[in-house]
Amino acid sequence: MSPEEFRKWGYAMIDWLADYSARVETLPVLSKSAPGDLRKALPLTAPEHSEDFSQIFADIDRLIVPGITHWQSPNFFAYFPANTSGPSILGELLAAGLGVQGMLWATSPACTELETHMLDWLADLCALPDQFKSAESGGGVLLDSASSATLCALIAAREKATQGNSNHSGLNQSLHSQGQASSIPNRLSNLIAYTSDQAHSSVLKAVRIAGIGETQLRMIPSDSEHRMNVSDLLRAITRDLKEGYLPFFCTATIGTTSSMAVDPIKEIAAICNAHSIWLHVDAAMAGSAALCPEYRHYFTGLNHAKSYTFNPHKWLLTNFDCNCFFVSDRQALTSALSILPEYLRTSASESGEVIDYRDWQIPLGRRFRALKLWFVLRYYGAEKLREYLRGHMQMAQHFAGLIENSDEFILAAPVTFSLVCFRHKAGDTFNEKLLNTLNLSGKLYLSHTRLEGHYTLRLSIGAAHTNSKHIDAAWSVIMETSQSNNRFLT
Ligand SMILES: *Cc1c(COP(=O)(O)O)cnc(C)c1O
Repeated sequence: MSPEEFRKWGYAMIDWLADYSARVETLPVLSKSAPGDLRKALPLTAPEHSEDFSQIFADIDRLIVPGITHWQSPNFFAYFPANTSGPSILGELLAAGLGVQGMLWATSPACTELETHMLDWLADLCALPDQFKSAESGGGVLLDSASSATLCALIAAREKATQGNSNHSGLNQSLHSQGQASSIPNRLSNLIAYTSDQAHSSVLKAVRIAGIGETQLRMIPSDSEHRMNVSDLLRAITRDLKEGYLPFFCTATIGTTSSMAVDPIKEIAAICNAHSIWLHVDAAMAGSAALCPEYRHYFTGLNHAKSYTFNPHKWLLTNFDCNCFFVSDRQALTSALSILPEYLRTSASESGEVIDYRDWQIPLGRRFRALKLWFVLRYYGAEKLREYLRGHMQMAQHFAGLIENSDEFILAAPVTFSLVCFRHKAGDTFNEKLLNTLNLSGKLYLSHTRLEGHYTLRLSIGAAHTNSKHIDAAWSVIMETSQSNNRFLT
């Protein structure tokens, strides 16, 4: 594609996106596509001959849009949000256009240095403890997802607990000669990890991938507000130690996926500290709220965590993928993930003065993700971002008030941040049918969970253009639908 042709279609694509952003509110939120619809409309094989870009462009509206569930609609209240914004899209475009691979500092110094700097900026904006900053022993990295962050934390903790017995024999020998390590390395089958029964499924997935048996993950029960039960955690650790196991890793959550419950981080951190357990804190969604000082009490105790993660790609106007992963001891992470073949040796790396982010993640290659974050943080500024987040949290409180004042619905969990869990008093079947009817209407999109065994509706607020008008409209639709459909009851 020539620069002139690229310019033409580039302008056209930006126009299309600007129009989309302006009209997305009018589109049915949930796609009405049936399984196989798109594949039936696509040619069976890839084109043998070149097509004009005008034909490709026309197919966006014809083929793709009908199969889109509109996450950017202000009436999208399902799951957690997946924000995007003008500055973020422009940053993404620039990253694609530059097309760099940021695996090593030397393969594009700006890619690495902007990233380290953005993570330090965010650590400050969220008042994270100093150990997560690059000037200290730790630092941050941008990964594709919170799931990857949790896996990397687990692998670093595993490597530390087993003293790298499988692939770091050199390290072991030097430790042995200094008499610092026990002569029998801990085996994988001895390791025990902990999390709560409300933790994200990525914790179990990480345990499986890391070669630690599922039976070595203790799902600690949660209390009536869905927070990890600290006395149960302590009891489990004590029992495991008595039976000769090695407790090594614990994931606590700030803002669980089901109900945005907050585990008691301070108490959990004290227990982990006392038993040399790596504490990883997952704040995938709620982490953005730490920009606002009045929500920071939920994060107390983070100064004892070994690692921490949150997703600007959920609620901070930065499009997927953009996950922040902070560690307090970058050496622990890189000694678990660094392997150096000859073809990747550079003098900059050998000088020890630079970060090579390939050693902080699973893949080798990496995108220039920091650009979109840089654009977002500069375009909005901290003040506007805080205003944005507070707006959603106030809307959640407003909606919770409507639920509390209704005779038909009840709140199913405390409203900590921007999520409201609620249900109709008529029971599971009614709630399930209510949800399906609401979503089929196209007027809004909610999702569900189960809390204490009950089918529960989730109104998750956080789309970029949602305002209180949309919340009131959602409430009207929910009320009308539940009242006009008494047949659900039978
Ligand atoms: C969304 C979520 C995740 C998963 O995030 P990905 O970036 O999609 O992997 C993990 N933990 C919690 C608490 C979440 O809400």
